[in-house]
Amino acid sequence: TIQQLSDLDVLEVLGQGNSGTVYRVIHKVTSDFYALKIIRSDCDPIIRRQSLREIEILRCTRSPYIVQCDGVFEKACGDIAIALELMDAGSLDYLLKTNGSFTEKLLSKIAGQVLKGLNYLHAQKIVHRDIKPANILVNKKMEVKIADFGCSRIMCRMLDTCDTFIGTRAYMSPERYDPSAYGGNYNGYAGDVWSLGLTIAELFLGYYPLLPPGENPDWITLMCAICSGEPLSLPETSTSPEFRDFIGCCLHKDFSKRWTVSQLLSHPFVSQSQDLAS
Ligand code: ATP
Ligand code: MG
Repeated sequence: TIQQLSDLDVLEVLGQGNSGTVYRVIHKVTSDFYALKIIRSDCDPIIRRQSLREIEILRCTRSPYIVQCDGVFEKACGDIAIALELMDAGSLDYLLKTNGSFTEKLLSKIAGQVLKGLNYLHAQKIVHRDIKPANILVNKKMEVKIADFGCSRIMCRMLDTCDTFIGTRAYMSPERYDPSAYGGNYNGYAGDVWSLGLTIAELFLGYYPLLPPGENPDWITLMCAICSGEPLSLPETSTSPEFRDFIGCCLHKDFSKRWTVSQLLSHPFVSQSQDLAS
């Protein structure tokens, strides 16, 4: 275990997010590697509040499908350092960029593991709200885990609308863009399912599925594509019916028709394959 920050030596930068920089570090005594996320004291107050929420959530989650927190430290300068389990194969976003698109078989295994992570979170009344390729991490054992709880909420009360636009717009569900069109009383859980469906489709196609490849849209274009665009359909020639159906179940624009995480866990697309090792 890490007693204090000085137990760790910084090796290199692993990634950069909105809230801070993530480094690969080594424990001087045990030689174990960790990821260390540093949130600077001079960051935006909103980011700092999100970080405190992330820490609160990391502290109370323990699952093989969620990136584990191994300690939180405050530096004298006010920076916050979060020691995390090192996911040494990188994010799905990074793997997509470096290795190209994923096969359907691999995606069924990835989807199964992310669904188990979401199932755990949703059972604890936690909504992630920022599921996307950059926030799903993989290690060399081929384990897939959910990371980055900076946008998550513990659902103890109804969603307040002023809080709706947290997260990454491209992966946000129609009901989060336009709550009034859906009666306003959606539950946040279905939003995570939408984001997962979009993520899996993107990893298969190799580009963000709701817009022509290469486009860098403003948010109105994005909102139109998400809320009123044609439903996403994967090419029939290169996909199985189970895969196409799975994506359809995740991407119902009407969240009341969208499948829940526990329903999706028994969808043939994921129930037929389990851990990546098998
Ligand atoms: P965002 O911009 O999505 O809000 P953030 O500032 O909250 O990001 P994270 O998403 O937690 O930060 O981390 C940023 C990047 O750092 C990730 O996309 C990933 O590449 C890398 N990273 C984060 N945690 C780990 C980890 N445990 N192991 C390996 N790499 C990690
Ligand atoms: Mg992130």
